[in-house]
Amino acid sequence: MIYWDHAATTPPFDEVVDTMAEVMKMHYANPSALHRSGEAAAKLQKRAREVCAAALDVRPAEIVFTSGATEGNNMAIKGAAMQYSSRGRHIITTGTEHPSVYECCKQLETLGWEVTYLPVDALGIVDLAALKEAVRKDTVLVSIMHVNNETGAIQPLAEVGRIVKERNARTLLHVDGVQGFGKLPVALSEWQADLYSLSAHKFNGPRGMGVLFVKQGVQLFPLISGGSQESGQRAGTENVAGAVAMSKAMRLSREHQPELYDKMTELRELFLSGIRKIPGLVLNSSEASAPHIIHFSYPGLKPEVMVHALEEMGMLVSTKSACSSKLSEPSRVLLEMGKDREVASSGIRISLGKEHQLGDAARLVEVLAKVCGNLRPVIEREG
Ligand code: PMP
Repeated sequence: MIYWDHAATTPPFDEVVDTMAEVMKMHYANPSALHRSGEAAAKLQKRAREVCAAALDVRPAEIVFTSGATEGNNMAIKGAAMQYSSRGRHIITTGTEHPSVYECCKQLETLGWEVTYLPVDALGIVDLAALKEAVRKDTVLVSIMHVNNETGAIQPLAEVGRIVKERNARTLLHVDGVQGFGKLPVALSEWQADLYSLSAHKFNGPRGMGVLFVKQGVQLFPLISGGSQESGQRAGTENVAGAVAMSKAMRLSREHQPELYDKMTELRELFLSGIRKIPGLVLNSSEASAPHIIHFSYPGLKPEVMVHALEEMGMLVSTKSACSSKLSEPSRVLLEMGKDREVASSGIRISLGKEHQLGDAARLVEVLAKVCGNLRPVIEREG
């Protein structure tokens, strides 16, 4: 079996698994404890924070450990909305955000906040003119992702940051960075980002750990209260082993990012040139997308039929994104990009990882061509 679902989750680095086990065994003490074992655990946690901060070129005090980006996105959006409601009750986002951002905004609407959902173009790129129009005096927060989890579309964050801050210097910019970190360069200061969320399991780290960057001077209303951990921003006994293991994955991912980018670009080129020759297949990502996500539709066929047919041939791919793969509705992201319902209902995502080789991509193209050839008569018969 070849695993092509790295945008859903990645296999952890060996070092991450070893570190996790070692810290769990040796440093299980609560880092808030006053005794020497507690102090040793606290020291490890402090070091992990420094390593994570260095991987993002920010200060250790700006790193909050979370359980992942769903929590980080909720903390950033709801926490900013609640903290700064005296500035206004207007939020801006796009129609193509991950559900952990999109649903947060929907929830805030039910509580009286006004949300502007910016349109995107056919490649999924946010309309910057619409952003310029949308930022107002009472806009508390703009939340725009780095890389789209379904299509790999990369948002022009430096321009986004410039427009937002020119229009209203007090408006905060939140970036959901989950699908970009370790794959593309990250430039928080150039983007003028105030808040940035990550999930460790998307960059070969442990599941259930994440980072929320909170720029110095920005306050968030804490969603989880009950203790003074994480400087009072997120209560609860710390996951020291998770933090140390995540910091290792972050350092390695940052170090290997340029070479991984080149390798994935090469694989993607081979892949795209192969699948463009398959009749009936509609490509939803482009050369301008992040190289590790390739998204296409095979209209007329339920995507789960394609997933299972590829699985039979040893290839594990996904429909849409992991968070919505069990829902039968068309992809909101593809509909926002102007695709018709048929295309938006038949999406398949292939996401690449560090272990893939050119031969794997060639084999996947071959298998895909075969599966599409076998399934074509089914579509024609039923269509
Ligand atoms: N944002 C994006 C863009 C994602 O792809 C994901 C994971 N599917 C998340 C947020 C949420 O991450 P997690 O499920 O690890 O909390």
